Amino acid sequence: MKGAVLYAPGDVRVTERDEPKVIEPTDAIIKMSATCVCGSDLWPYRGIEPVEGPVPMGHEYVGIVEEVGSEVRTVKPGQFVVGSFFASDNTCEICRAGYQSSCVHRQPVGALGAQAEHLRVPLADGTLVATPEPPPADLVPGLLAASDVLGTGWFAAVAAEVGPGKTVAVVGDGAVGLLAVLAAKQLGAERVIAMSRHEPRQKLALEFGATDIVTERGNDGVARIKDLTNGLGAHSVIEAVGTQESMMQALRVTRPGGHMGYVGVAHGVELPGRELFFSHAHLHGGPAPVRRFLPELVDLIWSRQIEPGKVFDLSLPLDQVAEGYRAMDERRAIKVLLWP
Ligand SMILES: [Zn+2]
Repeated sequence: MKGAVLYAPGDVRVTERDEPKVIEPTDAIIKMSATCVCGSDLWPYRGIEPVEGPVPMGHEYVGIVEEVGSEVRTVKPGQFVVGSFFASDNTCEICRAGYQSSCVHRQPVGALGAQAEHLRVPLADGTLVATPEPPPADLVPGLLAASDVLGTGWFAAVAAEVGPGKTVAVVGDGAVGLLAVLAAKQLGAERVIAMSRHEPRQKLALEFGATDIVTERGNDGVARIKDLTNGLGAHSVIEAVGTQESMMQALRVTRPGGHMGYVGVAHGVELPGRELFFSHAHLHGGPAPVRRFLPELVDLIWSRQIEPGKVFDLSLPLDQVAEGYRAMDERRAIKVLLWP
């Protein structure tokens, strides 16, 4: 089958890979309907994360179940399913508490390479959520967004305790930040301030429910948000980048007693203890337990109450994966959908 492989920073190609097979009796094999390029794929693509030899890429997926192992009970061939970037049993104590991305049996799907024609999904019963029936084509991008970026933005909003009457600030205007805006709106936020200096992204943020746009960054961005919140800072702050600058910006715009949800994969972030101590902020984040939210998100998309698929502003055949990475790396595209 065809699949994307990263050979070295900047060098991603579609090559012939082995067809995945059922290895464990709890596995399922799915035929990909759509996959995509993630902001986090850019870390190794840019060489910020080391690349050790050729590695298959991709961890976002929706598709049709083709085959299941002998111990798979609920997932069935022919179903259209959505999964996320960690396979989880959904039964252990950590899963039942809603932290499936820290499941005691978790397995990273990224290592299996979802930017491909087929994918082996471990722990299929725990990991995959089926739609009521195969979706019409126009719902596929939204369901694919649920696989990671929507689920991650949603978790960030929940971790930041977004709710009615709250003012929310979102740091980061990638797909996760934009969908965190959508999540904040859905969760009843009164005011949603999106931090972005890119016009197409500002436009999408407004479509998703942002009430204010702040273009300043760093100290100026902090000052601007303080201005908008009577000098107090936001109740709920979402960090969706993962750099030192974005984390500090998020911390500094969180009001005392407020909550910050951080979901940008941290790279080189060190929080100064004294500033943290005096911030009086609640911090919660990490790799999103997307599985916790998937049934609700699939339902919201299925019933057309939300349209997260709008984050895909470029759609390419899998063969053109290299152009997809380039477009995201150069910020020409917000998010790139790949169809096999
Ligand atoms: Zn578990």
